[in-house]
Amino acid sequence: MLIVPEAEIAALMTPEAAFDAVEATFAAMSRKSAYNFPVIREAIGHADALYGFKSGFDRESLALGLKSGGYWPGNADKGLTNHQSTIFLFDADTGKCSAIVGGNLLTALRTAAASAVSIKHLARPDAQVLGMIGAGHQSIFQMQAAVKQRNFKKVIGWNYHPEMLSRLADCAAQLGLPFEEASLETLGRDADVIISITSSFAPSLLDAHVTPGTHIACMGTDTKGKQEVEAALLQRATVFTDEIAQSISIGEAQHAVTAGLIKDTDITEIGAVINATHPGRTSADEITLFDGTGVGLQDLAVAAKVVELAQKSGVAINVDF
Ligand code: NAD
Repeated sequence: MLIVPEAEIAALMTPEAAFDAVEATFAAMSRKSAYNFPVIREAIGHADALYGFKSGFDRESLALGLKSGGYWPGNADKGLTNHQSTIFLFDADTGKCSAIVGGNLLTALRTAAASAVSIKHLARPDAQVLGMIGAGHQSIFQMQAAVKQRNFKKVIGWNYHPEMLSRLADCAAQLGLPFEEASLETLGRDADVIISITSSFAPSLLDAHVTPGTHIACMGTDTKGKQEVEAALLQRATVFTDEIAQSISIGEAQHAVTAGLIKDTDITEIGAVINATHPGRTSADEITLFDGTGVGLQDLAVAAKVVELAQKSGVAINVDF
């Protein structure tokens, strides 16, 4: 069995490799050759922690396994990241555990890759202004992956806690792009692509804020009750997701479905667009919305890639298990 510690991941995995792994996974899901098992996420009644599993199997790549972890709000005081996760891979032929891989950085890379995949396949080709809602840990990974997909000229951003916006400004500067703080009204009007990545339980971006032709990647809602955009926006937009079952239960679409504004059959898996069995965006005026809920197969795909890279570079720890 191989172990790839968290500390090795940054030197091994690139956003480009994560993008390719996630795009291939979404395509395999749409071909029905890869599937996710139901998500478990529980408040464990200790340390205020939320703990769970995301798991699945890809019959094409033979990636089998799970990501286990969650959210420990008191970790920051201990010098640790609040989000903690580890990915376990199993040999699909024998069931033996084949690898244990640190999952913290990989979660950020695979989540950013998902919204980047949605931008590649759904945003207008002439998109120039990237709008960011959210300035937390995930936001910079999101921005870094997004700017590779279109010829963005500017980044504009809004955050519930404005004092955190310097994180977005610094990231944009490193990418050589100007950054401006914006109201939600301005962001909705001027951005061609909007990424929302917050831990909010109430909508920030409203239907009235968004102008025709925008692509929105809703990446923060991954739990029952969370919400980033007004449900009416999903009724106006053409809605895509990573997986419909998660989208309507723990994703952004849960609210629009509960309110009767859309049905599960109104939502398309992004893999269908990748595989060209769905046309994706069909006009410059269409609003497209990607509900990126985060599936276990994404974690398995990036972990399998890391194991391959770690073996090549000799940093994987081999244990007899
Ligand atoms: P973080 O704690 O570092 O940042 C949280 C962000 O949410 C900050 O920008 C904060 O200002 C904002 N926020 C907090 N309360 C808010 C409110 N009431 N209204 C609007 N914004 C508010 O978190 P992070 O690591 O950047 O993660 C952000 C979200 O993304 C979390 O909800 C996390 O669970 C989710 N996430 C989703 C996936 C996925 O695959 N979809 C993967 C990883 C993380």
